[in-house]
Amino acid sequence: MVFLAINYHYIDDEKKYERGIYPVSVKRFQEQLEKLGKFFTFVGQKDVLDALAWGKKLPENCCVVTFDDGLKSQYEQALPILNKMGIPAIFFINGLPYLESKALFVHKVHWARSKMSPAEFLGEVSHLYTLFTGEPFNLGSFINMSEEQLRSFYPYDHLDETRIKIFLNKSTLDLALREQIINTIFKSIVKEEKEFCDNFYMTNKQVLELYKNGSIGWHGYAHKPVTLLSDSAMQTELKSASRVLSYITGDSKAAANSVSFPHTIPVSLKIAQVAGSVGMKFGFTMEKAFNTSLLHPLLFSRLDANDIPGGKAPLFSMEDNGIKILDKKLNICRREYFEEGT
Ligand SMILES: [Zn+2]
Repeated sequence: MVFLAINYHYIDDEKKYERGIYPVSVKRFQEQLEKLGKFFTFVGQKDVLDALAWGKKLPENCCVVTFDDGLKSQYEQALPILNKMGIPAIFFINGLPYLESKALFVHKVHWARSKMSPAEFLGEVSHLYTLFTGEPFNLGSFINMSEEQLRSFYPYDHLDETRIKIFLNKSTLDLALREQIINTIFKSIVKEEKEFCDNFYMTNKQVLELYKNGSIGWHGYAHKPVTLLSDSAMQTELKSASRVLSYITGDSKAAANSVSFPHTIPVSLKIAQVAGSVGMKFGFTMEKAFNTSLLHPLLFSRLDANDIPGGKAPLFSMEDNGIKILDKKLNICRREYFEEGT
């Protein structure tokens, strides 16, 4: 069997933002689904849960369509296409926008970068770093990587953009200081964070509708990089799904069965253990591979929209005689997690 999981973020006009945010257009989205539909049978959350719970067979070649971050553009632009084509999907939401009317760090960064040039953005970061720490700012001291290594992380971005992303997501910069800098920049652009959230994320009503359809999953309370967290912080990120969903749906028994782990490189068995302990039945990492079995269902691999046919840099194509791998970054099957032994 081949069980392919694909993932989308922003669905919108591809030229809507000058930089920083790179949506997939409705047209591209629909074309990708049409292409995939010739080879794969689309399955939804219930199909996967039934397969795991009582062995209901999934189609030989099947595909699940997923969306991360609970963005309103997914509901407004992608859902009508999915409904028209009769394709199920899973939308993974976070807690912070719903319980605290706060935007996620990752989106504050996207938004700021869409409004400022890389030079302006870095200038502002540098200024605030010095203001908050009293130290001069030296980007190079936080990033110890060759150009080739930098490109391997974000192959679709300009190198300056990549340096900024690495600095914000993977450098040794203190997490609290990082948030303080980004919050300050975000506040200078967006006056009302609640209003921003209302426009940017799905409303409670929209989430409720998707929840009733069995199409909601969990993406962490505050979108923290789970693999880098302590065990207790990891648990807090993952177990708050029922609290948030109960708040949104008014149903005290509301819960999530599936999770999409934010920033899961490297993948670890630990996140699967913690997710399983808080009731998640299956989950997705960012490992670029096809799933060829339902073993280790909390560590299903998943491809980005850019990686699939019709995307910016497809890693495979679909031929009459099967799937053809176009890029060695894509593995034909997942790592053997059970041999990791941790
Ligand atoms: Zn995310």
